[in-house]
Amino acid sequence: MLKRTSMRFAAALLAALASFVAGPNAALPAQPQHQDQAPGFYRLKVGDLEVTALYDGTGVFGPRWLNGTTATMDGVLKALHEDPHLLDVADAGFLVNTGKQLILVDVGTGTWWGGGAFGRLAGSLRSAGYTPEAVGIVLVTHLHSDHVGGLTTQDGKRVFPNAEVYVAKAESDFWLSPDIAAKAPKDAQPFFQSAQAIAAPYMKAGKWHTFSGSGKIVDGMELVPLPGHTPGHTGYEFSSRGQKVLFWGDIVHAVRVQLQHPEVTAMFDVDQTAAAATRHQLLLKLASEDVLIAGPHMNFPGLGRLHREGSGYSWAPVVFTDQWNKPAPSPQK
Ligand SMILES: [Zn+2]
Repeated sequence: MLKRTSMRFAAALLAALASFVAGPNAALPAQPQHQDQAPGFYRLKVGDLEVTALYDGTGVFGPRWLNGTTATMDGVLKALHEDPHLLDVADAGFLVNTGKQLILVDVGTGTWWGGGAFGRLAGSLRSAGYTPEAVGIVLVTHLHSDHVGGLTTQDGKRVFPNAEVYVAKAESDFWLSPDIAAKAPKDAQPFFQSAQAIAAPYMKAGKWHTFSGSGKIVDGMELVPLPGHTPGHTGYEFSSRGQKVLFWGDIVHAVRVQLQHPEVTAMFDVDQTAAAATRHQLLLKLASEDVLIAGPHMNFPGLGRLHREGSGYSWAPVVFTDQWNKPAPSPQK
């Protein structure tokens, strides 16, 4: 018995030595790297609403696109040197299935933002189990092409042929005005041109609607005017069974800079002073409320909550779960 045990031990020792000499997993073949990703959507419930974040793409925000004090911007450049991913940014749209209708809030870039790493939203929508034809309403936060490009193809076809599109009147009047476009700086011209081309087929079909004030578009949804980034920049707040989700558009572009320094603006802000004031007011309000925030440029899926941290704010992202039909847990206050 003792002899058999010691022989087994010797055999095991030899096998271990052999594997040590050859490398621990030498017998396993190399595996290919797959170089693709899981489908770009993420769902959760807000009361009875099913909210699905739809991935459009990722990019990098340029430090020269940010405006802050010299001291703040020197700090950003220094931090960026040590952390090249400091200004990584995402783009997303959000689908709300109320149980009766499909409402899309912002639609990504389509082919109007350089293509490449962007323009995935329609594919993400299909991956999530829906078709563009099934979308009945599109609410747009503003008319920059990273939010409305997905509406229209380059040859002027509606991507969402059955959708009624809603936008603030101040927003539509600004970007679709030939007079304002003619006087705008050269750098801003592409934003006017794309807005006009993207809106045109919906206007022609009678599916371009503007609102002012606090008119009702959908039951359980409030308009939240957030002017500054653009003249009619608007958030949409949905409530269901005591839970709320706010689609806040471009309140934040560079999450790791502007939450600590809400005074830092982006060169794309049409009214820099108003953009900073709107961000200050909204962040302060949201940090004291239990409202789920949906931000197209926050790290995908762009869903989270806000808390005070020092003189600024921190972002508490929604944690991945496959329990999508349960409410997202609320942090302890
Ligand atoms: Zn944007």
